[in-house]
Amino acid sequence: MKPVKFFAFAASLAVAACSQPADEASETAQVVNVYSARHYSSDAAIYAAFTEETGIEVNLVSANGDQLIERVRADGERSPADVIITVDAARLHRAEEAGLFAQTDFSDLTDTVPANLIDPEGYWVSFAKRSRVIAWSNTRVQPGEITSYEDLADPQWQGRICVRGSGNAYNQSLLASLVAHLGEESAEAWAQAIVDNMAREPQGGDRTQINGIAAGECDVAITNHYYYAMMVNSDDPAAQAAAAQVTLFFPNQDTTGAHINVSGAGIAVNAPHPDNARALIDYFFSDTAQRAFAEMTNEIPVRTDVSWDNPTLAAMLPFNEDNLNVSELGDHNETAQRIVDQVGWQ
Ligand code: FE
Repeated sequence: MKPVKFFAFAASLAVAACSQPADEASETAQVVNVYSARHYSSDAAIYAAFTEETGIEVNLVSANGDQLIERVRADGERSPADVIITVDAARLHRAEEAGLFAQTDFSDLTDTVPANLIDPEGYWVSFAKRSRVIAWSNTRVQPGEITSYEDLADPQWQGRICVRGSGNAYNQSLLASLVAHLGEESAEAWAQAIVDNMAREPQGGDRTQINGIAAGECDVAITNHYYYAMMVNSDDPAAQAAAAQVTLFFPNQDTTGAHINVSGAGIAVNAPHPDNARALIDYFFSDTAQRAFAEMTNEIPVRTDVSWDNPTLAAMLPFNEDNLNVSELGDHNETAQRIVDQVGWQ
């Protein structure tokens, strides 16, 4: 496999004029310029396999979703971006609103990708899923005490919940789904109750919350499923030991289903290499890529007909998923942000 060429990293994003990647390379070789908020080892393997199969070199710009959006917006018509990838539907929506995506006919993917995971206007498509779920202490919480996100609002959980800050897209999107299902008023009451029930000020990422349970600082946490899987599958005995004290629970199985967010991609509106962009997006649905998501990042592949080997992830499936069109997470993002400000979710 050819190595993936990294032509710019997050640190260099601050230097707006630092790179006009691949202009020279495009004279001689086929390239695709990928702007990705994903920071996973799976993707390097997928890009290498893509290059091997197609001869198209992958140039990667890596940064968080908001930085990528700002970069492509600032570069305007001169942006070298061909494909834009984020790990949250609300960020995809934000890129769409900023006019960064080309409207694309993804209709040939409708047999592969459930309709609720494709942008209704055709600006982007999801290639892997993540569920935001509930973790609890094996010893301090009994099965059946919590069945839903709504249950976390009960005063019995006062001082017992660990959850990361509201600036993170994952919590905003979970809250956006509650706005969609319950209405704005009920979603705000829920968010207020979560703040009231917090064991501590929000800190760290999702693994920090799982570690909080293991350390006895809280009894319940909200986390994306793959962070737990990552800890179970970790080589680090401390991560394994923490995960072993925690049960991961997929809530709302009898109602709306567990919250689903996505990794997704769209073709940049000024893509210099739109055909290569489309080829790469199609490749995310290949057996190779779908298997890599399941095996290397513990994400849930959008295709159900691809076999993969990851007992930790397999043990979580199947579960009832929220079938809300993930574009609605973007539609309700502003409301969710207003709510977290209102209730003081830091
Ligand atoms: Fe993550």
